[in-house]
Amino acid sequence: MKNFNFKKKYGQNFLNDKNLLLSICNDANLTSKDEVLEIGAGMGALTIPLSKTAKKVVAYEIDQELKEILLDLNLPNVTFYFEDILKKDTLKIEQDFSDKYKLVANLPYYITTPLIFKFLKESVKLSSMTIMVQKEVGERIVAKVGDKSYGALSVSCSFFGEAKIVRKVPKTVFVPQPEVDSCVVNFKISSKRSDTEKNKFFDLVKMAFKSRRKTLLNNLCEGLKLKKEKLLSLDFNLLRRAEQLDCQEFISLLNLLSDKGMM
Ligand code: SAM
Repeated sequence: MKNFNFKKKYGQNFLNDKNLLLSICNDANLTSKDEVLEIGAGMGALTIPLSKTAKKVVAYEIDQELKEILLDLNLPNVTFYFEDILKKDTLKIEQDFSDKYKLVANLPYYITTPLIFKFLKESVKLSSMTIMVQKEVGERIVAKVGDKSYGALSVSCSFFGEAKIVRKVPKTVFVPQPEVDSCVVNFKISSKRSDTEKNKFFDLVKMAFKSRRKTLLNNLCEGLKLKKEKLLSLDFNLLRRAEQLDCQEFISLLNLLSDKGMM
């Protein structure tokens, strides 16, 4: 890593602890039948154990300077794309997988949240995510109603399955060392949702959390451009804030709004 110019703008905090890298593969419950998507291959520290464990790996890396290093690894079951994953159509990304696949990555911290939303919204083949994220983001992903970190990301993740923090990782294992600690989150996607259901759910959650201090009533009035009286006619307590509703209550609210043709 000596001569490489780390680019902070790409969230380049690399790993080189072999035991930790193997543990991440274990956290993802990988077998030789699995197809894996890695986002942010870096110098290949995680790509190598992934390629030894899984049947096939598709890895994305935005930094063209890493191209030669990665291609020189000569990993026979790995396909590299030197592209910005956020700019690539999710269905195109998924054309590389014959069926279900697992996302395993030490994610660049600056795209973690948009990336999770992108895959939750658009993916049709993703079966699980095992991702290294900043500790604070991990806490937001797994938070339940009443937790300090509970918010749109937590509700959205529980709409699709169950996420757990499976490993705490100190900042000292990264090169260069970031400012905060990290954790590995394992997220199993268990619920199949239709495109309409997904779109409506994300719209509702976005509206409900728009101004966290406002009641659902006020946020939904603004978001749905409806009169208060109309929303108050629903058999649902809208005088609470979004952070007081769990995922099931969001689903009930969505069903009521859809039944009444308000969404
Ligand atoms: N996997 C390597 C490791 O564990 O050592 C590197 C992890 S590092 C935290 C994140 C990597 O993601 C960096 O190599 C960075 O260049 C890459 N990256 C950042 N933004 C990206 C994007 N939008 N699309 C693809 N790769 C990206």
